[in-house]
Amino acid sequence: MATQNPKSKTRNPASRTRRPAPRAYDFVVIGGGSAGFNAARAAAALGLRTAVVDGARTLGGLCILRGCMPSKTLLYAADQLFHARHGDAFGLVIPRARADMRAIHARKKRIIGEFAGYRLRQLKAGQFDLVRKAARFRDSHTLELADGSLLRGKRFLIATGSTVSLPAIPGLARAGAWTSDDVLDLDFIPPSVIVLGGGIVACELSQFLSRIGARVVMIQRSAHVLRDHSPEAAAVVQQAFRDEGIALYAGTRIRGVMHDRSGFAVEFEHAGKTVTRRARHLSPPGGGDPNPAGLLWDAAGVKTTAAGRVIVNRWQQSSQPHIYAAGDVCGPHEIVHLAIAQGELAARHAAGAKGLRPIDDSLLLNVVFTDPQVATLGPSEHALHERGIRTLSAAYPFDDHGRSILMEAKYGYVKIVAEPERGRILGAEIVGKDAGELIHCLSGPLAMGATVGDLLRAPWYHPTLAEIITYPLEEIAAQVKRG
Ligand SMILES: Cc1cc2nc3c(=O)[nH]c(=O)nc-3n(C[C@H](O)[C@H](O)[C@H](O)COP(=O)(O)OP(=O)(O)OC[C@H]3O[C@@H](n4cnc5c(N)ncnc54)[C@H](O)[C@@H]3O)c2cc1C
Repeated sequence: MATQNPKSKTRNPASRTRRPAPRAYDFVVIGGGSAGFNAARAAAALGLRTAVVDGARTLGGLCILRGCMPSKTLLYAADQLFHARHGDAFGLVIPRARADMRAIHARKKRIIGEFAGYRLRQLKAGQFDLVRKAARFRDSHTLELADGSLLRGKRFLIATGSTVSLPAIPGLARAGAWTSDDVLDLDFIPPSVIVLGGGIVACELSQFLSRIGARVVMIQRSAHVLRDHSPEAAAVVQQAFRDEGIALYAGTRIRGVMHDRSGFAVEFEHAGKTVTRRARHLSPPGGGDPNPAGLLWDAAGVKTTAAGRVIVNRWQQSSQPHIYAAGDVCGPHEIVHLAIAQGELAARHAAGAKGLRPIDDSLLLNVVFTDPQVATLGPSEHALHERGIRTLSAAYPFDDHGRSILMEAKYGYVKIVAEPERGRILGAEIVGKDAGELIHCLSGPLAMGATVGDLLRAPWYHPTLAEIITYPLEEIAAQVKRG
């Protein structure tokens, strides 16, 4: 027999229509991507009653679903194809290497599905509550969820990521161009694609498309691709792209984008001439806008930049000190390990942890997964000079190194920058085969304040790619001795 709740007998009938009291937490994280998930984990481990609120149909965040992991899965497949097709350089006869895009697409979906499934299990593991609803601030301590319910928090973290946006080019919005999401989800080989822009995502996806067999035209407004990188690094990538058959135009002014039944035409000025290039498909640059636009935070009094990024201090606190932000929504870089570090820092600061250190800009690490890869560590030599910091530097090319010659991996160089007195490492730039792996030979030593002399005391196995790093180290060591 069902037992009746004794309290129900005495309840005022009017109270039945009253909303339940909002749930209350010490730390509420909006967005369960890289920044949000790791922040929630850190906060819960420090004893904060924590909730993650995420409105996505599929959880996992940009990195797993539409960013790092799908793009690198596809790029790796395209790299394998490229090397199979160029087996003749090694005396190999591989007659029919070609991309089966349906199989590549299915493999990508399986791998991403596994990563997303794992993340979902982590989010549901019980360290913190998971609330699957989109949220906006009602006031600076209350969130209103998509179903109208309320959630109160002592402290908050905005970790809502970014959205791919179209650049302001006449005709583009109407023409139905592809975003990076569309390229990452292809299950066929497009005959031809115009890629507008030369940022990291544009470069990675252009090479992928070219290697699976599409005719690719890249049209870039800046003087060179990868405009946040050195002209020397960009020049190597541009040369490799052109050698592979990508038609690359830099320093252009785009006049318009036309679309008809046969595809797209882009008209632009290049080297004093008006040029028109056509292709079946068009992919604009993979620029990200903070997600969602600042108005969701207005009710909480959170200040944003004109572009909508949440403005934060060195502890990731916004203009409202109890509301933090981390990851793409605040920037300044769209890089996963930084999003994680920012999220964890915010959580620890919110929990009152002692001995915290702000994110150290001098350790900035970035990798572009083109072939050759581009990896940078610390500020560039140019940036250091602009700050009035004196440097020593030395570079060594891959085409003069035994291991890279036998691997036919001759594009690029290793450059190391150090301070002149003791030769302490300040930064590095590696352009070449596996640069994204090699740079880690230097990131640990840079974080520990190592000098070129310290690094030269370490063993370097022969013949490895990593061994090339010893040449610029030796040159700087000699300069330190002389000077
Ligand atoms: C094609 C591509 C390739 C990339 N490759 C790399 C790479 O190789 N290496 C690298 O370091 N970085 C790479 N990045 C960048 C990297 O993916 C991002 O910097 C990173 O994933 C951002 O993490 P985040 O936690 O800030 O945001 P996200 O992971 O996007 O998480 C945001 C979450 O917030 C949720 N959300 C949004 N609004 C609301 C709301 N109002 N209420 C509730 N929930 C909300 C979303 O559903 C989402 O789950 C790449 C990006 C792209 C596009």
